[in-house]
Amino acid sequence: MADQDVDVVIVGAGFSGLYLLHRMRELGVSTRVLEAADDVGGTWYWNRYPGARCDIPTTDYTLSFDPALETEWTWSEKYATQPEILRYAQFIATKYGLYSGIDFVTRVEQATWDDAAKRWQVRTDRGETITCKTYVMATGCLSVPKVPDIEGHDRFRGEVYFTSRWPHEGVDFTGKRVAVIGTGSSAIQSIPLIAAQAAQLTVFQRTPNFSIPAYNGPAHEERLARIAEDAATYRAEAKLSGGGVPGEPTTLSARAISEDERRARFEEMWAKGGLDMLGCFNDVLVSDEANEILCELIREKIRATVNDPETAESLCPKDHPFGTKRPCVDTNYYATYNLPHVRLVDLRKSPITTITETGIDTTAESLEFDAVVFATGFDAMTGAIVGVDITGREGRTLKDEWAHGPTTYLGVTTVGFPNLFMITGPGSPSVLSNMAVSIEQHVDWVTGAIAHLRDQGWATMEPTETAQQQWGVHVNDCANITLYPVANSWYMGANVPGKPRMFLPYVGGVGPYRLICDEVVEKGWLGFRISGPNGETCNDGKIRELMPDVGMVLQMMATLELPPIESMSADHAREFMAASSAMRPTGPAVGEIVDGTFPAADGSPLAYRLYRPASEGPHPVVVYFHGGGWVLGDHESDDPFCRDLCVRSNAVIISCNYRHAPEARFPAAVHDGMAALGWVADHAEELGGIPGRLAVAGWSAGANIAAVAAQLARDAGGPALVGQLLLTPVTDLGMGTQSYVDNGEGYVLTAALMRWFADHYIDEADRADPLASPLLADDLSGLPPATIITCQFDPLRDEGTAYARALAEAGNEVRHISARGHTHTSLTMVDMIISGAPHREQMGEALRGFFDAMVSR
Ligand SMILES: Cc1cc2nc3c(=O)[nH]c(=O)nc-3n(C[C@H](O)[C@H](O)[C@H](O)COP(=O)(O)OP(=O)(O)OC[C@H]3O[C@@H](n4cnc5c(N)ncnc54)[C@H](O)[C@@H]3O)c2cc1C
Repeated sequence: MADQDVDVVIVGAGFSGLYLLHRMRELGVSTRVLEAADDVGGTWYWNRYPGARCDIPTTDYTLSFDPALETEWTWSEKYATQPEILRYAQFIATKYGLYSGIDFVTRVEQATWDDAAKRWQVRTDRGETITCKTYVMATGCLSVPKVPDIEGHDRFRGEVYFTSRWPHEGVDFTGKRVAVIGTGSSAIQSIPLIAAQAAQLTVFQRTPNFSIPAYNGPAHEERLARIAEDAATYRAEAKLSGGGVPGEPTTLSARAISEDERRARFEEMWAKGGLDMLGCFNDVLVSDEANEILCELIREKIRATVNDPETAESLCPKDHPFGTKRPCVDTNYYATYNLPHVRLVDLRKSPITTITETGIDTTAESLEFDAVVFATGFDAMTGAIVGVDITGREGRTLKDEWAHGPTTYLGVTTVGFPNLFMITGPGSPSVLSNMAVSIEQHVDWVTGAIAHLRDQGWATMEPTETAQQQWGVHVNDCANITLYPVANSWYMGANVPGKPRMFLPYVGGVGPYRLICDEVVEKGWLGFRISGPNGETCNDGKIRELMPDVGMVLQMMATLELPPIESMSADHAREFMAASSAMRPTGPAVGEIVDGTFPAADGSPLAYRLYRPASEGPHPVVVYFHGGGWVLGDHESDDPFCRDLCVRSNAVIISCNYRHAPEARFPAAVHDGMAALGWVADHAEELGGIPGRLAVAGWSAGANIAAVAAQLARDAGGPALVGQLLLTPVTDLGMGTQSYVDNGEGYVLTAALMRWFADHYIDEADRADPLASPLLADDLSGLPPATIITCQFDPLRDEGTAYARALAEAGNEVRHISARGHTHTSLTMVDMIISGAPHREQMGEALRGFFDAMVSR
């Protein structure tokens, strides 16, 4: 029997719970908030250690739902202290009359879905049961302290403190010998202040973290001015930004600028201080090389600040790229180690063996203390959610469902748990963002969902497996194009023994995330099963199947509103393509590049560009044909891709031109392809190649030429080829496959553009000729081993797949690589489409494999 029945139960009275309660009241639904603490504030209630502050400027760490808040509350500092932020939470709770809706000192222990009643039963530690239609976990990402995994952690008989459960009356360390265990954000904020009081301070460090000076002071004048002038625009910009703070991302790449320019940029950012350092260069979080450049610049600052070289070296992080663990923002942290009574114990050199009744033993020494401070972090993102015993449909428990890592749709909902919402759950931007902005967005979205159910008379809402599975894939795809997964961070769950390793937050940015959530609603609650007394509705489907970087490039292109190529003349299209190519990254350095000519099938000279690896030759040789629909491009036009192939395959790549349409129509190009093969085979030695070790490769129309040339070479009895690498090949000019329907528009190579290419190249009547459509050849046997790459969002996907199948059926060795989330053009975009790198590696590996197999035969 329930003690109370309400529409909505919210767990937690931090900013999330407070704002949600306010929205529920506006909606007119009955709501209870249950909170373990005896006041509001969440994070800012619990974390009262000395020096506790936000690390996002407080002008931005602000709720914006009511314009009145912009004028009625003023922050005193750039990074406000915990007491001030707590007062802000209390101010909000008072202003909107929220205290009356909250049960304090009430911990939720259990929540069970009653499928017959379509309600949650929520049980508290007061023995009370509350039933509700909607159950919201506003329990915070960083609200469950991690139990220290140190032998004897509960043995110490002196004073023991946890930064995240600091005594409300404060602590006086005057004259005491203090140990601080941990060097994460809370430790780094508190150490200088503890050092100012203690007689002796010893810091035990397992892993050093990067910390950037805060240069705290009065609130940002420029930001205050912008907010005063037009708060709505300022906040709107934050909502569509990457991290929830307005600002233009830099275009400076650490790899592309000079040493002097890098230093100048770094010094400028160091002087600014704070987390803006994450945006020092545009490639910090995606390139090892760029990241290491920045790491070393920061390490130089540490070494220049800390007098003792050994301590300085111990404080220099070397085990993770900058930013992949949350960087800290400090006031005098590194300089504190210059004080005579402060000492760093590097646990990598001498680990703690045990905590004793009187102190701490390491492998090197026994130390005595009066007080031990644990700054050992949190069971982040999932700790508070699985901390409640939650049972959903058919008795499934959230703990079991998430045993191998959390699975969510949008980070807000999860399959099997109807009407359960999480604010800033795993799979949402949460801790990678200014959480004030993320919290407001989540709360607004959840409010929309609750209103929808109520207004339409629906009883339940739950994501589908398909939608949830794809969201997990998308979250991983985003993480995998960054360096984040490299670090053993709490973002990865790596700080909690036994916790599954996976990247927990959504790294795609708060702006893109917001647009996704809005799109889900616009598409009729895409990916949700919604049911009620009168039936069920489900617009099942997937959101964001494109690789994130591919999606970004497409979006950028869409904003340029470029004219379609098929609206241009061939010459104009060529100029247009050359101009676009001039703006792309150059690709990796190779050993040598040589330009030359060879005779076309009609004897006229055709250009080639040879890419030689840096390793000692001679090398195997790959004859490569560029893409461009037989109309566009030349021997240089796939330059970055050819460099990349050369480096990855350790083979000479010779990009051979061919005559283009409409000036030279079918079959000129394929005859030139054959001429190129013959000429390279005959001149292998003088080109630095190993005679007889020859493969053919191509992309798109170039792959069509490569495939046809492989068939012609077979029929002519040579040159002998050890393999063919076909990237998104044209194999059938019938152009009637399903992939033309699925992907005919919106993915750069459109169905209309393919028709334009084909019309320039070949008469309708000739299109079934195997020299144009190699898939239609009568005999596909006896061909060299093939690696064929098809892309999910390519009109040519199905014919590439069909060619791979047909070659295999004819008894050839075939490897078919299906590139999920990619388009016809994305895999060749070296250094732009990072998600294509694993496939580019597969292509290099395929070429190496052709040659290795030949040697072993
Ligand atoms: C030291 C520190 C500094 C931070 N600095 C920043 C910053 O600068 N910028 C930023 O964006 N973010 C920062 N964060 C993240 C911060 O957690 C969020 O910004 C925000 O305060 C979270 O609000 P919330 O309401 O979602 O969760 P919380 O504030 O964590 O509140 C959750 C509440 O739920 C309660 N609760 C949990 N489980 C139960 C249960 N079973 N029963 C009852 N009650 C329960 C908790 O007691 C808590 O009060 C910081 C976090 C920490 C720990």
